[in-house]
Amino acid sequence: MEIGNALVIALAPPLCAACGRSCRTEAVVCTRCGRRLAAAEPLLGNGPAGLDRAWSSAPHEGVARDLVAALKFRRLLPVADLMAERIEWLAPAHMLSGTVVPVPTAPPRLRRRGFDPAGELAAALAERLEAPLERCLARRGSSRQVGRRRAERVGHPPRIHATGAAPRSALLVDDVLTTGATLTACAGALRAAGASRVVAVTFSRRL
Ligand SMILES: [Zn+2]
Repeated sequence: MEIGNALVIALAPPLCAACGRSCRTEAVVCTRCGRRLAAAEPLLGNGPAGLDRAWSSAPHEGVARDLVAALKFRRLLPVADLMAERIEWLAPAHMLSGTVVPVPTAPPRLRRRGFDPAGELAAALAERLEAPLERCLARRGSSRQVGRRRAERVGHPPRIHATGAAPRSALLVDDVLTTGATLTACAGALRAAGASRVVAVTFSRRL
């Protein structure tokens, strides 16, 4: 390690992306948060309407919720790879086949943030799985899901369309599954564009 780097680390030790306490160099989360995340139970089910199956690596609470926030609002890129690693390790093999398709972010949000959490997670997962990645979905309007009341979110499904032919077998990837309305809209757009199998994996799932 260069002296400069060693000094930076000594003066500003790395912080856990979930709880903010100092943690080991090169680690994304501290030992305590790592243990808590490891204890979270993955969730598998038929998923929202239009999907063949949906799997989430953890309930949206505790460390998992903190990591989703760290990726979404603090743009901590190493978090995307930590999430992808957990999905790769824990998801049943049959959930991880097909072409990876990120759930699209609305253009105004993307412009405002300059950052696409679902896209980063999907890219990290595709790289780990050595699977093809196709950004073949787009989202119209600025329909915000986070911050809306559940009834409102269900009442205003996002408008999603395919930008080209969809892969026959699609693996949708998002950071968090909330009402499922977004995944249902994505699955509909993929099937209309030629997909015959649509499954989804998300890092967390709001219960
Ligand atoms: Zn921590």
